[in-house]
Amino acid sequence: MTAQETAPVSAGRGEPLVVLDGVQKHFGQLHALKDIELTVKRGEVVVVIGPSGSGKSTLCRTINRLETVDEGTITLDGKPLPQEGKALAALRAEVGMVFQSFNLFAHKTILENVTLGPIKVRGIKKDEAERKARELLDRVGVGHQAEKYPAQLSGGQQQRVAIARALAMDPKVMLFDEPTSALDPEMIKEVLDVMVDLAQQGMTMVVVTHEMGFARTAADRVVFMADGAIVEEGTPEEFFTNPRSDRAKDFLGKIL
Ligand code: ADP
Ligand code: MG
Repeated sequence: MTAQETAPVSAGRGEPLVVLDGVQKHFGQLHALKDIELTVKRGEVVVVIGPSGSGKSTLCRTINRLETVDEGTITLDGKPLPQEGKALAALRAEVGMVFQSFNLFAHKTILENVTLGPIKVRGIKKDEAERKARELLDRVGVGHQAEKYPAQLSGGQQQRVAIARALAMDPKVMLFDEPTSALDPEMIKEVLDVMVDLAQQGMTMVVVTHEMGFARTAADRVVFMADGAIVEEGTPEEFFTNPRSDRAKDFLGKIL
């Protein structure tokens, strides 16, 4: 990447980028997010862990407004999340999201998968979008697969394409919701390596994962959720060696 392209990521490092303040979310009777206070700083890597059903995906989905919130505010780069229309589409472009299932368009080539958003949403010219897409595909190690279709790639390769596709929109923050959970074990590392690389380059990231190795090496902060609430947070060192809450101790006891 050129210096110009990396500048927005490293500029203002350490300032609040994503701020959730008093966020409440219900699904009917279920209180899915309970008074969430979370600030993600520019350049920070926050790993969210917790038992199944604790609200991790819902948290991610509120940040790119796939879910609305009942109460509280979420701001991105100082601005409240837009409610609808063009402003919402622009927001989605600024918040890259990578899911457990890769969600690539099956009938489009790898290259088309990556250029579609920049051309349609960002209004970037086709050849410029393709140049950048090839650069990103190279960066995640699938440059030679650009003309293939998703089904011709392994799960690990598809997930790396999904990461490239999100990056092609020049997002301010990348959200990863269990990006390696659907992968065969031998493909997990190639995806985590791309994520570690991204973290080292200064990308702001919120990562829901059960990969504790990733959390230890790449996270600036670990947030532990249970029953819709943030129960505990700290550096990976603090959290893994000295969890304070019974919920966290119990959870770590089961997975480590
Ligand atoms: P996690 O990602 O930590 O496993 P989720 O955020 O997916 O947890 O879910 C939190 C809780 O909210 C769960 O009890 C789940 O069943 C519920 N939930 C999530 N999405 C919906 C929805 N669209 N409608 C109703 N309940 C939901
Ligand atoms: Mg989930």
